[in-house]
Amino acid sequence: MDRSYIPPVISGELGRNAPHVAEDRNFYARGPRAPSLFQIDGLPVVGLIEEFGSPLFVFSEYDIRTKAKRIREAFRSRYQKTSFAWSLKTNYLGAICKILQSEGWIAEVVSQFEYEKARQIGFEGNEIVFNGPYKPRAAMKTAIEEGALIQIDNWDELSLAEELVAQHGKVVDIGLRVWLDPEIKPVWSKFGFALENGEAERAAARILENPNLQLHTLHCHIGTYILAPNAYAVTAKKLLHLRDALRARYHYLVPCLNLGGGFPSHSLLHGFAGPAEQVVPPIEAFATAITDVLRELPPGEQPLLRLETGRYLVDEAGYLLSTVIAVKGVNRPALTDGGLSARAYKERMILNEDSRIGYVVDAGINLLYTSAWYQFEILPARTIDAPPVTSRIYGSLCMAIDVIRDHVDLPPLETGDILTIHPVGAYNVTQWMQFIQYRPALVLISNDGKADIIRARETLEDISGPERMPEHLTR
Ligand SMILES: *Cc1c(COP(=O)(O)O)cnc(C)c1O
Repeated sequence: MDRSYIPPVISGELGRNAPHVAEDRNFYARGPRAPSLFQIDGLPVVGLIEEFGSPLFVFSEYDIRTKAKRIREAFRSRYQKTSFAWSLKTNYLGAICKILQSEGWIAEVVSQFEYEKARQIGFEGNEIVFNGPYKPRAAMKTAIEEGALIQIDNWDELSLAEELVAQHGKVVDIGLRVWLDPEIKPVWSKFGFALENGEAERAAARILENPNLQLHTLHCHIGTYILAPNAYAVTAKKLLHLRDALRARYHYLVPCLNLGGGFPSHSLLHGFAGPAEQVVPPIEAFATAITDVLRELPPGEQPLLRLETGRYLVDEAGYLLSTVIAVKGVNRPALTDGGLSARAYKERMILNEDSRIGYVVDAGINLLYTSAWYQFEILPARTIDAPPVTSRIYGSLCMAIDVIRDHVDLPPLETGDILTIHPVGAYNVTQWMQFIQYRPALVLISNDGKADIIRARETLEDISGPERMPEHLTR
């Protein structure tokens, strides 16, 4: 037999119950070329790093505005009375909020900090929906005085609202947060009043019987990254049922139905096989599911529909650019001769999957909190003419769990290579933490192709500034 013949590998790993078994099996099915991403909205990735340093968050104004237009048209073309609130906790950078404000969004906040941030950015009190399980007395008092719509989460909060409104002396619009079974799992029961056991109706009754309060909204936010449009139809029907019950008792029709947020972006959860287009329903499917329910009502009884959109609008607008600072792996392949032979690499993977090549990059999960759930796409910023192999991307933290992707197909990279990590626009720049490193700069690429810093890289003063030294330690 010809000694150079490589028999096909049909071996023990076929039935192995390991996460990489499919990828091992398909090793030879991998394409010979690796995709890359050179530019974002016309600006070269390498040039952005040269100008602003690494790592760097980059946001596309074009992408945010395109999504805003699409969701607005998806809903308003089917149901004119739709109002949109921007979920600040998804991304509360002033510049991002301003873009959405200019697209017609009001603000949705879930804490005192976010309330103050929304006001600072330029939302008026009456352009704020105030959610969240903890609204401190002072924050609620301000929100009432400034005309924000408070959505009550629990009985203690309702008591506080009643007390503050009595002092306020004017009738105040109020919303009621409800939780219910939308017929998908998991059911979020932490927030609001239960629908199914009558608790929500009792809370609504208490509001309706209070002459200082006007029940403006029935609200329910069923979760995030919801892939089932029908869950919203179920939610809308159940809230309308509550609205009917209240009308029968009080001859009062609650004017607004708020179905929260939760529409998915094109990110994929770990374990999902792409492409996202085959996993994530289009926004129009959600719009149809919701508005079909509302349009069954006689026009005079159709409520204002409010949505609190977060993830859908901003996730794909955000990129993190990061530089490879080290190449790791047992017997790392020589890069000069095109890497290991496929056979040698394959043997190594079978013998010890940790022989997988690893790259340390200058960003970490401190900046990518959501990497625990989502598998980001990672692409090099130059063409590399070599087949992709399964690689691991380590972050730059001194923590073993700091792995951005445990297995991702990449061509052989070198120190200094720039990678784009995408989509990362939702939640990461609010949930990030400073741990052992400065948080990087953020730039926004405007529609005319200009890159502006919208948050500067942190400095030592930003971090040490709030610290105080007790007198006895200064001696
Ligand atoms: C977080 C949140 C949203 C936004 O959720 P997305 O999944 O990002 O769209 C909306 N409403 C409330 C009450 C929230 O807590």
